[in-house]
Amino acid sequence: MIEIPHWLEKQYDLQPDSIAIEMEGDRSITFKELRDYSRKLASGLLNRGIKSGDHVAFLSANHLDYVLFIHAISYVGAVAVCLNIRLSASELAFQIEDSNSCSLVVDEQNKMLGEQSMDESQADIDLLMVEQLTTSEEKIEVRETLRLDEYFTMMYTSGTTGKPKAVMHTYGNHWFSAIASALNLGLTDKDKWLVCLPLFHVGGFSLLMKNVIYGMPIILLDKFDAEVVNRKITHHQVSLVSVVTVMLQRLLKDKKQAYPSTFRGALLGGGPVPAPLLREAFESNISVFQTYGMTETSSQISTLRPSDAFQKLGSAGKALTPASLKIRSGGKPCAPNEIGEIHVKGPMVSSGYYRHSSHENEYLATGDLGYVDEDGFLYVIDRVKDMLISGGENVYPAEIESVLLEVDGVQEAAVTGIEHPEWGEVPIAFVVTRNGYSVTEGQIQKYCKKRLAGFKVPVSIKFIEEIPRNASNKIVRRKLHSLIEKGEN
Ligand code: AMP
Ligand code: MG
Repeated sequence: MIEIPHWLEKQYDLQPDSIAIEMEGDRSITFKELRDYSRKLASGLLNRGIKSGDHVAFLSANHLDYVLFIHAISYVGAVAVCLNIRLSASELAFQIEDSNSCSLVVDEQNKMLGEQSMDESQADIDLLMVEQLTTSEEKIEVRETLRLDEYFTMMYTSGTTGKPKAVMHTYGNHWFSAIASALNLGLTDKDKWLVCLPLFHVGGFSLLMKNVIYGMPIILLDKFDAEVVNRKITHHQVSLVSVVTVMLQRLLKDKKQAYPSTFRGALLGGGPVPAPLLREAFESNISVFQTYGMTETSSQISTLRPSDAFQKLGSAGKALTPASLKIRSGGKPCAPNEIGEIHVKGPMVSSGYYRHSSHENEYLATGDLGYVDEDGFLYVIDRVKDMLISGGENVYPAEIESVLLEVDGVQEAAVTGIEHPEWGEVPIAFVVTRNGYSVTEGQIQKYCKKRLAGFKVPVSIKFIEEIPRNASNKIVRRKLHSLIEKGEN
């Protein structure tokens, strides 16, 4: 059992008066304030009878109270069940019950959604407002140390397939995730990370960990807004930012001037990355570090190093220092450039899902397809379940989507397979066009023919208003099938 000083107590000791968190409107708090407020909130939780080991569901938008709550939970030794505010009340009710939470804590903004979820849920538990939990009488029995093997957070996987499952993270998982990232990117006393991802996803959450483990200031935004993020990068010494594909697209579109030298780069992950976007960033002289990871790996497990960023465009790099990855297919290791399922191992990988048996093997089978090139760099292709086989050839929807996005006037694209009497399956595409553009099925197919093998060219292009996505913004390709069945066009 490894025990370390509570990371926020450590920062309080090392640099109480340094800025910990900057927010909109020139508000900021120091590490001492962050520690004092979090301990007060911990006392509030203890006063409400919440104790070590309890699961506490938390439904909140991005703001300071989110951060205080997370640290308060660690001072109590309870487990935070981080809920996604974009879910429906019945989806939340499932997670509240499934996680065996003893209370649901909500912020003001999500009070109604919290109440509706409680109505839908069979669980008879307390609904608490985070704003009202802080008490003036501080309890002294808050924890001063953290045990790396103890559970700290539970997050439901996005579940584009099947029912969501709660990934359990220990303090050690988060600790190693933060340390591994620092070993990859380096860490300087000028670093400041901008947080515009939701904190209830591991990508955003991991930045709260870096904040207190590194003692590095963060800028916390309540949501992503390209204009605000560009302003912060240009005028507020942001050195790093974590984004998903659509955010990078918007940043590039909105950008009016070159980023200053204080900016080191954007970490990009969470889903497939279209090659044209990487090229555009490259041409605008913006460092983009492509990452690969998932809730189960407590954020990135593989990242392209800054020094390789330009030579290996499109790669998600190599496994971080304490981690390893390998590609396997049909029970055997794959040769370089051979596509198979990505398997990962490392101290940031969760040991399993709540109420499900833990991972059987030393390596976690990710459900994602990819390959490593002859130099050992990882390329992520698509989810195993989304691949289709056409005339014996493997077809990866993400590859076709990336080409569709190159077509003028195509704003969003999603590809899936439909049955075909001769080929088994063939790809078909759903496209959302850019406002004011008109583009035809024939034009799109003609472009695809130039860029893709014949069996990858979508046999039909359906124009739709909106691509079905889940609460984590990932394409739900299952729902595309129902669009076909409904005969929508
Ligand atoms: P989640 O299940 O929400 O934790 O998201 C993790 C999933 O996002 C992975 O299993 C992949 O399918 C996808 N993903 C993450 N990073 C990448 C990447 N660089 N390229 C393609 N897909 C990715
Ligand atoms: Mg997943």
